[in-house]
Amino acid sequence: MSVVNSQNIRIEHLTHISEEELKTAQEFHGHKCPAMPQGLRAGHLAMDILGVSRARGGGELQAIVEIGDHHFSGCFADGVQSGTGCTFGKGNITKKPLGKFALTLIDTATQRAVRVTAKYERMKLCLDMPFFTLRKEGIPPFKLDAAVVDPLIDDVVHREWQEMFDVREFQQYPVDKPGEAFDAVECAGCKEMVVTPYAKDFMGQEYCQIC
Ligand SMILES: [Zn+2]
Ligand SMILES: [Zn+2]
Repeated sequence: MSVVNSQNIRIEHLTHISEEELKTAQEFHGHKCPAMPQGLRAGHLAMDILGVSRARGGGELQAIVEIGDHHFSGCFADGVQSGTGCTFGKGNITKKPLGKFALTLIDTATQRAVRVTAKYERMKLCLDMPFFTLRKEGIPPFKLDAAVVDPLIDDVVHREWQEMFDVREFQQYPVDKPGEAFDAVECAGCKEMVVTPYAKDFMGQEYCQIC
């Protein structure tokens, strides 16, 4: 697996986040914050480097987000989902519980991949700003004054990517491509529907894993 670092990254066409895209993503996410747009930016950057567009089905792109649960990098993943079209429902996004602002995006057709990580120095600056001090005091993001949140969002949307992210590019990234199942059985116990690969045979009858 050969690797190219940030300094040698070539981008044919750099896309930008429109007001409309930002608004749609904020509606999906539920509030205004800087981490969600950072995920949007990371997603756009990864797609621009790979030269691919937003995923429509579940097969063309795969995303890995190295976030965890219950901390401020969670919002980043919603930006990634909105920006790349890699979503929990389509099954083309995976969470690795590492507590980082990092996205790996894989183009399954070419097996090229890009890993985008937020630069530590910049993140450190952000964490000392009023938005985060107020959040640490327990104020939910949707109760914060627009004057505190909006300039941060504007900065995240418009700043040069080189100042925000480190990037590594991989050739021949390992890809597993599971097929899609379209058949289901009725569980002999609870009578609920179970997608066939998840059903277990017991004494000649199909059961869900709970039963
Ligand atoms: Zn958020
Ligand atoms: Zn059952």
